[in-house]
Amino acid sequence: MSTPWHVLGAGSLGTLWATRLARAGLPVRLILRNAARLHAYQAAGGLTLVEHGEASTYAIPGETPEHPEPIRRLLLACKAYDAQDAVASIAQRLAPDAELILLQNGLGSQQAVAAQVPQARCICASSTEGAFRDGDWRVVFAGHGYTWLGDAGHPVAPIWLDDLQAANIPHEWSPDILTRLWRKLALNCAINPLTVLHDCRNGGLQQHHCEVATLCAELAELLERCGQPAAADNLQAEVERVIQATAANFSSMYQDVANRRRSEISYLLGHACKTAERHQLHLPHLQQLQQRLIRHLHSLGLPSD
Ligand code: NAP
Repeated sequence: MSTPWHVLGAGSLGTLWATRLARAGLPVRLILRNAARLHAYQAAGGLTLVEHGEASTYAIPGETPEHPEPIRRLLLACKAYDAQDAVASIAQRLAPDAELILLQNGLGSQQAVAAQVPQARCICASSTEGAFRDGDWRVVFAGHGYTWLGDAGHPVAPIWLDDLQAANIPHEWSPDILTRLWRKLALNCAINPLTVLHDCRNGGLQQHHCEVATLCAELAELLERCGQPAAADNLQAEVERVIQATAANFSSMYQDVANRRRSEISYLLGHACKTAERHQLHLPHLQQLQQRLIRHLHSLGLPSD
């Protein structure tokens, strides 16, 4: 029997992955926070994926973190700010050859998790797929996309990419995953905070061209300084292209704030500012943007970490 996929985090991406793997006949186990969540999940009868308007339910076995089965392959599908606590809850179950696939956005949480479980292989992912929850244990597949996976320490691709192929999860093994994660982080820093502060859709930033350009210049300087010149390449042009192509959309940070949810700011703009400080790089506009955003979140009574 092939190695089971343990999925930790039954939210949007966790459900999107778990249901597609289960649909392909692969063994999947869902790890819920505690016995109460496990009972609620079991009462629902499984995870439901809504795709092209059609809902399908998959009775994927659920378990709590205390289950005795060792974990060899773990898909970590929680938010960046929950990653370390979630991994701590199952750390004692990790087999000596365990592999973790980290789906978190931004940077910082992956490094923290890798330090927490040094014996395990940690593979980072960067995804353009989109999904959202429209009920408990129910997820809508909103945007088809691609997932890049890579391990900055070991360039060899794992054999389980075959499982992703079988599950129709579009993916590619990336030898430069850190560059991809930094590029995505930079795009996010140039767009998302400004959409919150100017209270606008992505397209609204076309009215703030100079502000965007100044941020892109500072972000490019940061990327160069931290050894990611490829991520800095033509950054401003891509930011402008994204603003235009997604003009009608609300950014993920805008949606988090509008729905009074905690955002992943510490792993995006916060990580950029922290890295600049570590390199003693003075990026006044980026730092000012972080301060404005933190003040704004506080004024709304939302967490800024
Ligand atoms: P989400 O819908 O909030 O799901 C996260 C899940 O993790 C929740 O079900 C949460 O449970 C669970 N969780 C947190 N801590 C846990 C713990 N200790 N034990 C068990 N479960 C735990 O988040 P998401 O949208 O899937 O995002 C996951 C990551 O993927 C984020 O970094 C996000 O930026 C990134 N991403 C998301 C998308 C997307 O379209 N959704 C696209 C690209 C990247 P509770 O509900 O009980 O808190």
